[in-house]
Amino acid sequence: MPLIARDGAALSALQKLRFFPLAVTGGQGCTLIEEGGRELLDLSASWGAASLGHSHPAIRTAVDQALANQAGASVLSGANEPAVELAEMLLKLTPGTDDRRVWLGHSGSDANETVARVVPAATGRSRIMAFSGAYHGGTQGSMSVSGHTAQEGAVKASGLTLVPYPDPFRPFEGDPSGEALLAHIERLLATSCPGDEVACFFMEPIQADGGLIVPPRNFLNRLSQLCARFGILTVCDEVKVGLGRTGLTHCFQHEGFTPDLLVLGKGLGGGLPVSAVIGPSRIMDYASAFSMQTLHGNPICASAALAVLTTIQAEGLARKARDVGSNLMDEISRATSDLSEVGDIRGRGLAIGVELVKKDSKDPHADLARKVVYRAWQIGAVFYYVGMNSNVLELTPPLILSDDEARVGARILAQAIRDVLSGQICDEDVAAFAGW
Ligand code: PMP
Repeated sequence: MPLIARDGAALSALQKLRFFPLAVTGGQGCTLIEEGGRELLDLSASWGAASLGHSHPAIRTAVDQALANQAGASVLSGANEPAVELAEMLLKLTPGTDDRRVWLGHSGSDANETVARVVPAATGRSRIMAFSGAYHGGTQGSMSVSGHTAQEGAVKASGLTLVPYPDPFRPFEGDPSGEALLAHIERLLATSCPGDEVACFFMEPIQADGGLIVPPRNFLNRLSQLCARFGILTVCDEVKVGLGRTGLTHCFQHEGFTPDLLVLGKGLGGGLPVSAVIGPSRIMDYASAFSMQTLHGNPICASAALAVLTTIQAEGLARKARDVGSNLMDEISRATSDLSEVGDIRGRGLAIGVELVKKDSKDPHADLARKVVYRAWQIGAVFYYVGMNSNVLELTPPLILSDDEARVGARILAQAIRDVLSGQICDEDVAAFAGW
């Protein structure tokens, strides 16, 4: 039976978000290999997780060594060298005050859930603010502070207030500068959501699953100043866009502010499950055993993360992401310049969004996005779509993507749009794939 059919018969639908019948048997670098041997250019990196691509020698060596002399399997009841070294390295890499601690987890979800639990407890403030469109995770606690349409049915935290994300393409009150939105948030803090009751404000410095939206210049800096006025802690969720992807080590560094807490995941482990929260010790040391799972801080995943961080630095992958990403964005612009269905191309480094709209309008074109990712898979590239309106193609390739690969990727993306617009994909082709 083909792998995809066995997958259908054996693996639960609860954890599937499928866009085409991808079934992978291997991978090297930015290439995925399907059953049967076909090679695909990976422009998603499994939603940003495979930050160094597939089978990277540094990760293989680190994991092999960690397993050859395994220092236990957890940090819960004993220190281990890789976990401590990882925490030390993250502290060194992340600007902020001296007195900070690192929490290690498995996923963006458990990390954001930890923050959502500990900050209200430690500050004695019951409210949390976050953005509509935000995806902070798939566990109960992380969903409870998220605002993505895909999670509309989830129970929200009782003190949660959501505000629109500053989207220059679809601006709040028609103001792309974000001023009107800042004034709206300030009004909320003075009225229905009293600022001195708010524990923290969750923010993605690029709103990823909400549509790969880059905020207007200086917006998050201004927002962080507003938060500081009320003693509200800023939480920067860089699970998808952190650690070199946007051209700088941290995405918030583009925005001219330093958050109180930083959340990392996905690419931190390069494909192994590791996440981290870095924050002030008065929060992070709030109480012993307040948020723990047995395998947190295990030496295998910590070693993989150390290899990722070391490789990003040694190979200058942040700068490479900036340069290759900028070329990729240019290539996509050139290759699609005559297509009015391409409404907006935006991003930083290798976090790129292509918003698809109906001809000569700004109306979201979800049907086109759904068929384009399917067609792109047919002709050789893997990427998915995101967005509150399911109409933004998202490119988060491995940070090792070369200029040649970027050129091929842009060509495939543009060709896929043209093929769909000329009617090469029909509804039946994509009917089996729910997407999101
Ligand atoms: N935060 C952000 C910004 C994300 O994009 C995601 C996943 N898309 C998460 C948190 C949750 O991460 P995970 O699925 O690894 O738990």
